[in-house]
Amino acid sequence: MNNKVIIFSAPSGAGKSTIVNHILSLHPEIEFSISATSRAPRGEEKHGVEYYFFTADEFRQMIAEEKFVEHEEVYPGSFYGTLKSEVERIWAKGHVIIFDIDVQGGVNLKRIFGDQALSVFIQAPSVEVLRQRLVGRGTDTQEAIERRVAKAQSEMEFAAGKFDHVLVNDDLATAYAEVEKVVNDFLSDSASL
Ligand code: 5GP
Repeated sequence: MNNKVIIFSAPSGAGKSTIVNHILSLHPEIEFSISATSRAPRGEEKHGVEYYFFTADEFRQMIAEEKFVEHEEVYPGSFYGTLKSEVERIWAKGHVIIFDIDVQGGVNLKRIFGDQALSVFIQAPSVEVLRQRLVGRGTDTQEAIERRVAKAQSEMEFAAGKFDHVLVNDDLATAYAEVEKVVNDFLSDSASL
């Protein structure tokens, strides 16, 4: 069976979801891993689509029952994690799993899945560009932007050398071409089957 996984991690503002969605649009055999979270749904988000939503108590209970492959308190009070049942659900269909996950979670998943995994770190071209993107988004206060930029800086330092591939997301067309090649090479590499 084709038990492969592709992991995408990035600091916020680096363009991770755009790249993950691009890959999903090209590969019907790749399926998005729906994470569990204890944060509240945003906007139109629905249970079982973007996330499986739980209360913090339910989440802690599931941690105690060892239902997670990995889990993190990504922001204070907000838990996120990959359920073992989600991995089994996708592999049972013969699909390859794609993860959109924070940097620490990405490193943990790579450690768990080893050669079955391709891990890609998406990097904004520079801290200054990242700051400009967050300003351009217009959804964060100045203070929140500085907090996110500082977090991104430490994540970039932490990530160095821990991922199979680092993708610098400067020009989107170039990033798409590069990520398509890395993913295709990984999918056609029978050594890791
Ligand atoms: P958001 O709340 O904006 O949807 O996600 C916040 C962060 O949590 C993002 O960096 C996202 O990639 C990360 N995240 C989503 N699912 C998981 C998960 O299952 N495990 C971990 N460790 N992080 C996750």
